[in-house]
Amino acid sequence: MNTKEPEPWPQERFDRWYRERPVIPARDYVKTLVPRITALGERAGFRLEKYGEATYSTAMAAEDGGAGEATHVTHDLFRLLIGDFDPEKPCYVVLGGTHGYEKGGPLAALKFAEEEAARYTNECSIVIYPCVCPGPYEKELRFTEGRIDPNRDAFLDKAQSQEMRALARSVEELHQRLFNGDSSRKFTAAIDLHETPFMDIAIDKENAEAGGEAFELEIFPKGMFLIAFDEDLALAQQIIRNVRREGHHVVDDDTLYGSPNHDGILLMSEMGNVAGRVRQLLKHFATASFTTEYCDEHLTDETPDAERVEPQMAAIRGMF
Ligand SMILES: [Zn+2]
Repeated sequence: MNTKEPEPWPQERFDRWYRERPVIPARDYVKTLVPRITALGERAGFRLEKYGEATYSTAMAAEDGGAGEATHVTHDLFRLLIGDFDPEKPCYVVLGGTHGYEKGGPLAALKFAEEEAARYTNECSIVIYPCVCPGPYEKELRFTEGRIDPNRDAFLDKAQSQEMRALARSVEELHQRLFNGDSSRKFTAAIDLHETPFMDIAIDKENAEAGGEAFELEIFPKGMFLIAFDEDLALAQQIIRNVRREGHHVVDDDTLYGSPNHDGILLMSEMGNVAGRVRQLLKHFATASFTTEYCDEHLTDETPDAERVEPQMAAIRGMF
């Protein structure tokens, strides 16, 4: 009988894990997202701010003359400030790309900024973090360097990953600036855009091998759902109503990740002990804070963008 436990990965394998993945040309951060982000920064009423940098060790592609040698690439981290930030108006925060492989978040955040955000600026101000983890975005990865899951690492002062350290500093600094250091005032709401795609099945297997967390997706959910703090239930219901009103499917299984499904809403109090989520980091600075999950076991980069972007846009609109 073989009772041998699988060997956990040695450190060196975690170190190599990120470097060896190739950049996918259609996801190249500098070529595909940065031009859209910087173009938005030129618009009247929009302000583009660089809040940090992320430097990654990556293997050079053969066509760049590198033939697999390691090099470093540094990506700028951007946020967009849209509106006049009148302290009397509500202020919302939208984040995409916490999990790089979940392409719908960055694409929806950018499309919303490009096509709709300006319409809301009489009533409110909007902060958009279009792509929180640009390295994992362009390599279609859930994890960042060291195989760290950014959405288990979103802590105010003890994040391990460079992206989450930068995000925590950025949100704290922005809050301080916009509210003149008044810690009793908060952003109205924040929404972090996520997906549960096909790739999660493979990631789950690799997790088991690497000695990490298992998702245990007994049922693969289909459609949109929201993770919300219990006290934000009314706004969560407003968001889900809007997703449905715009014709998108809301997950109707009895459970969501094994916890009760309250008509498309997974309540934090019923999730067990979770830490390091971006919605938890943002909750320090925002009255309400949500995570979207657009789920489809057939969702891959071959899926037409609109299919994944539109439900996320409906959720963003529902928040206002
Ligand atoms: Zn995610």
